Amino acid sequence: MLISSFSAIKLDMTISEARQIVAEYQALLDLGEWEIKCRWAKRGELPPDEDASIDWQTEHHSAKLILDRQQSENVPHSILHELGHLRLEGHGECVDRGDKLYELGLNRIASAILAR
Ligand SMILES: [Zn+2]
Repeated sequence: MLISSFSAIKLDMTISEARQIVAEYQALLDLGEWEIKCRWAKRGELPPDEDASIDWQTEHHSAKLILDRQQSENVPHSILHELGHLRLEGHGECVDRGDKLYELGLNRIASAILAR
């Protein structure tokens, strides 16, 4: 599917639709060597102020992406943000840097891609 097809607000997204978006943005960000597993978060699994998270094992090129189903209108943005972490940091250990400016920068990149 085309990137633009995901720009509109989409409620009630299924996990297979979310996985299609992951596959598309994985290709866009040249992350094809990664095996990225994606699922909805369990209740309370994500901190209240986060709508997604990713962790990875560099040596295995495997990553786990968890998305908040309640925020499904933001899923494409969340996927781009989290895959941005993988693109920029995946060559090293997965650590939470807690850098608000860096997080803001990733959000702006995600928004810019979605606005194309
Ligand atoms: Zn982030």
